[in-house]
Amino acid sequence: MPIAGIKICGAKCRTKEGAPCEQPGMKNGRCRMHGGVFFRRETHGRTTLRAIKERKEQRKLLREMKAVNEKIENSKSS
Ligand SMILES: [Zn+2]
Repeated sequence: MPIAGIKICGAKCRTKEGAPCEQPGMKNGRCRMHGGVFFRRETHGRTTLRAIKERKEQRKLLREMKAVNEKIENSKSS
């Protein structure tokens, strides 16, 4: 039963007929059964929001350090 204004999922079902799924889709276009993890929850390990943020900041810092190092190396050689 499609709802007006909301896209239906359309994923191929694993039934005998293989008809497209008729569940209403989420923002990513697939329904809650076929869309995978869409709303990231605070869990544990390396996929937490905090861990991702920390890694992002570390990468940024590393990039800055590399840039500074390159600048120093260039000034030495010239
Ligand atoms: Zn679906």
